[in-house]
Amino acid sequence: MARIIDASLTGSSEGGCDPRALHGTWGALNAAAVRGLAYSDDVKAKTDALYQRVKHVVPAVEWPAYAPLIAAINDMKRAKNAIILAHNYMTSEIFWCVGDFRGDSLALAYKAAQTDAAIIVQAGVHFMAETSKILAPEKTVLIPDLRAGCSLAASITGADVRLIKQKFPGVPVVTYVNTSAEVKAESDVTCTSSNAAAVVEWAAKEWGMDRVILIPDEYLAKNVAAQTGIRIIAWHGRCEVHERFTAEDVAELRASYPGIIVLAHPECPPDVMSAADFAGSTAALQMYVEQKHPAKVVLLTECSMSDNVAAASPDVDFIRPCNLCPHMKRITLEGIYDALKAMKYEVTILEDVRVRAKQAIDRMLALPKETPRAFETGRPPVAVELV
Ligand code: SF4
Repeated sequence: MARIIDASLTGSSEGGCDPRALHGTWGALNAAAVRGLAYSDDVKAKTDALYQRVKHVVPAVEWPAYAPLIAAINDMKRAKNAIILAHNYMTSEIFWCVGDFRGDSLALAYKAAQTDAAIIVQAGVHFMAETSKILAPEKTVLIPDLRAGCSLAASITGADVRLIKQKFPGVPVVTYVNTSAEVKAESDVTCTSSNAAAVVEWAAKEWGMDRVILIPDEYLAKNVAAQTGIRIIAWHGRCEVHERFTAEDVAELRASYPGIIVLAHPECPPDVMSAADFAGSTAALQMYVEQKHPAKVVLLTECSMSDNVAAASPDVDFIRPCNLCPHMKRITLEGIYDALKAMKYEVTILEDVRVRAKQAIDRMLALPKETPRAFETGRPPVAVELV
């Protein structure tokens, strides 16, 4: 596990992991200046209320670096009828200050399908922007940095899925949304970490099968198998952020911070899930903190998530293992500003691929909407068939 930051010891992001610092917290001052933007009375007036949302996680001394970009982005959004869909792993100044809709992949997919805006800027990684384009083809979908990929999405291709289907004819293919449009197009239905177990149960019933193909995340597949009892055929993809957590990390956290509540994301290895107190999607983890208000908590997921939940729950003490997603962190305020200003980089998908991918997503969206399902922790591991 990477460095651990105890928010109660640092009181701020100083002195430890600061994802903003990696992309120019201080560089943002320069980023604003080279774009002809500066902190002024007008900017202050436009952004003071926004700062209240993030004051527990963004030090006051850093705010003048971000505020000019935030004010300019929000002005451009209004002028161009654009919205920003911000994933839970965005840094707080993006998530809380320019994001119009915030959440996990599933929540953002619903918003992309419903919005009246002409332009969607995806503050997330490329597969999320593709999902927005699949659901809203008439809209302009922009991704601020084309290099914002994902180790799971990169682990599998459409050709791989075709080979899997040849090997297991008639078995339903449930595909995690963390995949390309091309992979979704070869799939029967998509899922997210909020609904993976429910979708797998539905697919097994709908297809009348006792086994389901769930790709590409090996650990999510194993964790769903442990929850559902359904035989799972899995792929060997992994999230490069969540695979770093170990059961030994959980034991060390409990020893170092007696009474700490450990929350894990289902992309973590099964022994981590087993050792956690609660497990679920980012939406489920956020709900847990908001509803239970644990005194001290650790979220075993990408580290900006802790900042974003901490901003909304300042009474909770967060221990923050520093596991950054390098792909998510390619999305910066200055990148969003440039994207809106120059209308780049536009996401396009071949229509034939888009239509087939949409069928798989539509099947998921048509299922009864339920609150994100928690994964029961403490369950013994269940074997899956890896292809
Ligand atoms: S956190 Fe993991 S699953 Fe999410 S975008 Fe990064 S690599 Fe992909």
